Amino acid sequence: MSILTSAMLLTAVAGNCAIAAEENNFDRQFDNYPTYNGEDLELTVDKAGTHFRLWSPKAEEVTLNLYNHGLNGKPYESVAMKFNAANGTWTATLPGQLYGKFYTFRVKQGGKWLDETPGVWAKAVGANGKRAAIVNLDNTDPEGWANDKGPKVDHFSDVILYEMHHRDMSMSPTSGIANKGKFLALTERETLSPEGLKTGIDHLKELGITHVHILPSYDYNSVDETNLQQNTYNWGYDPQNYNAPEGSYSTNPSDPETRIREMKQMVKALHDAGIGVVMDVVYNHTAENDGSNFELTAPGYYHRHRADGTYSDASGCGNETASERQQMRDYIINSVKYWADEYHIDGFRFDLMAIHDTETMNEVAAELKKINPSIFVYGEGWTAGDSPLPAERRALKENVSKMTDIAVFSDDLRDAVKGHYSNAEDRGFATGKPGNEETVKIGIVAATAHPQVDYSKGNNSKFAYAKSPEMIVNYVSCHDDLTLTDKLRKSMPGATEEELQAAAKLAQTIVFTSQGTPFMFAGEEIFRDKKGVHNSYKSPDSINAIDWSLKAKNHDLFEYYKGLVALRKAHPAFRMTSADDIARHLVFDKIDSSKTPNLISYTLRDNANGDDWKDIKVIFNGGDEPRVVKLPKGEWKAVVRDGKIDIENGLGSYRSSITVLPRSAAILYK
Ligand code: CA
Repeated sequence: MSILTSAMLLTAVAGNCAIAAEENNFDRQFDNYPTYNGEDLELTVDKAGTHFRLWSPKAEEVTLNLYNHGLNGKPYESVAMKFNAANGTWTATLPGQLYGKFYTFRVKQGGKWLDETPGVWAKAVGANGKRAAIVNLDNTDPEGWANDKGPKVDHFSDVILYEMHHRDMSMSPTSGIANKGKFLALTERETLSPEGLKTGIDHLKELGITHVHILPSYDYNSVDETNLQQNTYNWGYDPQNYNAPEGSYSTNPSDPETRIREMKQMVKALHDAGIGVVMDVVYNHTAENDGSNFELTAPGYYHRHRADGTYSDASGCGNETASERQQMRDYIINSVKYWADEYHIDGFRFDLMAIHDTETMNEVAAELKKINPSIFVYGEGWTAGDSPLPAERRALKENVSKMTDIAVFSDDLRDAVKGHYSNAEDRGFATGKPGNEETVKIGIVAATAHPQVDYSKGNNSKFAYAKSPEMIVNYVSCHDDLTLTDKLRKSMPGATEEELQAAAKLAQTIVFTSQGTPFMFAGEEIFRDKKGVHNSYKSPDSINAIDWSLKAKNHDLFEYYKGLVALRKAHPAFRMTSADDIARHLVFDKIDSSKTPNLISYTLRDNANGDDWKDIKVIFNGGDEPRVVKLPKGEWKAVVRDGKIDIENGLGSYRSSITVLPRSAAILYK
């Protein structure tokens, strides 16, 4: 989700200092809560029995209910839990290993019994996530799990991200996939489109991306898991149980083990194909306010409030969580650690990351590094509304250099290349609108300090906010807003399909050759659209599902994307790892944008980052006219020109100059 840009918010905050300056008095009451960070929160099973421990420091009474089923019926046993004032937890132990049973907690506070809750640490749940399940996680491991490993990542700039939703990838009959809309869809090999082209995991392998970034896959609220024949679609940004997989992506939501096992099978199949798995995590808000598991266990504590005690709403979804409070901070850290340990997850994409504080994000990255140094953490460096958390503490894009091993999305490149996200008709650098050149250059150097980039001319950012290119994720589109295809159609009315695809190729060539980490939205490589719907979070499959017949129809585009991925993987010059290297090796040609708009060219010189190409010339022409660009002395071999890419055989040799067609890129080396 992204609604406001961070630049807009900083302005909003600056005009509202009295509220933003510090947390209000209402939230002060939570400062003196005792905290508890033991690994035995809520449920442990051992030889001595089944143990429960709920953190709820201000509860007056807590009842534990045990059930035979995940839904319906009455508890077969209810137990009053005992309070430990020192750490604010309530405990109960029952004899025997109660595998197969379900449980809920019920908290009494302020003289009132709250609704039942599975707690905040349920690692397994029944259908619709209303009751926690007692399962032996060892039984959920697929064969070979003990030796399962994701790809090793030396530098985050080596990662190529592919953002996908489970249903988008597989729901269309053209996917040839049997387990449509399920975790298992990504375990199927040799699946084909009607025209006989690869789909699913084989398609990902063919394209060559290094990591899939899956939209929320923890248990979310909006899809009724007891009525899957309705085929309800949702992106899943409505978190319910953070530590259990979503039931509708499993073949049997009523069996708590199935969703866990099937998600692990998916991870393993991707790992076996050499592909890492990034999870989209949404700790910034809960789907419900008073009805959230946070509120039902420790009322008030996990959320932020306004001075009058109402929920503050930096998420634009009704509430926001409070990462600066110890128990919530520990919760986020322990939750991602759990996914990394138990599910072998290779990265985390934090939704509206700036709702969290930088200290929490630094601890998240540091703790994950201890588990697996290859884990990549990045997020949206903005919020969707103002927050009581002061701007200087927010994990904003502008604060990324206060963080370690965290990257942020560059809205600079995104909006400058294709036009503003919120204005469908607006064009950008790649579609002929002048005035975006300097902002595209900010993206090319991954928002690092560069002697030839004038940040005062940046559209979205006015200073070099990244200390390192490994802090930046570059993209031109994602699940939010119009797909690249729809954006081009709306902003280039009357253009032919060929002209639209030429612009798409140019836009993605900028992304894939820029410093930082490239990110693409699933299906763009076959010119997938969403019928012009920009906020398709609950649109039906008819809008969201990828039509795999497009792969045959737009095969030239697919081959081009494949070429871009291969070019980037083969050439470290596009993947520099320090700001100093970029400043030294990346040299822009001097072009007066007022006279020659929509033209950027630069050289990656002197075997940048150990590249075996000595000098690489990169030229982008987003204008309507062909441009003749001078080449330095010597013979230059083209690998990209006129909408074609061929690294193996090249696309001809050039001396002294090359003509670059409108809306196309040229890449040459010597
Ligand atoms: Ca659910």
